[in-house]
Amino acid sequence: MTNITTEIEDLATEIDRLAIATPHASSLLQAFGPLLVSQHRFLQNWQDPTRTFPVDPLKYHGGIPLIRQCRLLLPDDPWQEAGLSVASAIGEGFPQFSEDMRCLSKRIKEEPSVCFALCTSNEASDQRTDDAPNIGIEPIALQLFQRSLTRLLLTKRARDMTKELASWPWTKGYCPMCGSFPHLAIIREKGVRWLQCSTCRHEWSFSRLTCPHCDHEDPQATNYLFVEGETDGTAFTCDKCSTYLLTSNQSGNLRPSHADLIALSLAHLDLILQEKGFLPMAACEWNTF
Ligand SMILES: [Zn+2]
Ligand SMILES: [Zn+2]
Repeated sequence: MTNITTEIEDLATEIDRLAIATPHASSLLQAFGPLLVSQHRFLQNWQDPTRTFPVDPLKYHGGIPLIRQCRLLLPDDPWQEAGLSVASAIGEGFPQFSEDMRCLSKRIKEEPSVCFALCTSNEASDQRTDDAPNIGIEPIALQLFQRSLTRLLLTKRARDMTKELASWPWTKGYCPMCGSFPHLAIIREKGVRWLQCSTCRHEWSFSRLTCPHCDHEDPQATNYLFVEGETDGTAFTCDKCSTYLLTSNQSGNLRPSHADLIALSLAHLDLILQEKGFLPMAACEWNTF
């Protein structure tokens, strides 16, 4: 058995274990589990050599993320294979969209360029579901597909750039790769807070006292919400901009946990915070109800 197969099996086993251990998150884990496993497998099997992009020092220091300096989604990326794997995983995790994903897969096979067009049209706006009538599927299903596929491709880009960006200081609360806000903060060794991007999964360290969303730094206006009996999961909240960020303390954890799984298993905190009137720093398919 190869290491890749073992890793994928470990991830699938961990999803099954968490679905039992955290009953409040089991439906989310069952829905997003196939997507996580298929994305993990796709990235592990992606044979292309590491591709890096030039960083403009002035723009970067000025807070302009890489995606606004150059194109990160390219026509020669493996759109057809990636699109088919994402559609298949969505069909498995979201039975209500299985017919939509079957239609979409048929279209992708007939017209391989359709995925690139879907993920790059209206790049600067959120109006991408305007493309729905052309594909003939539910707009909500198409949006889930577009976001999942974009996430997969940008995760590859971010992984390729991790080493390069490690030497460039970044002090913003949004992602230096793609400009998205984080969906999760992870406390690691020496108490350093790492923010994980909600789109490309890039991680960067960030002050624990400052709100990543509005840059506000005021102990009176920021807080941590704890749930009685839980030690790993909390949420950072900011009264100034009324947003929150799920936070997991992984310092001392010898075996790193999969960040997507941490976020899914803390979904009960999303519900509590949203009932209190806070919004997630990054609205994702798994934290908006
Ligand atoms: Zn990002
Ligand atoms: Zn704030």
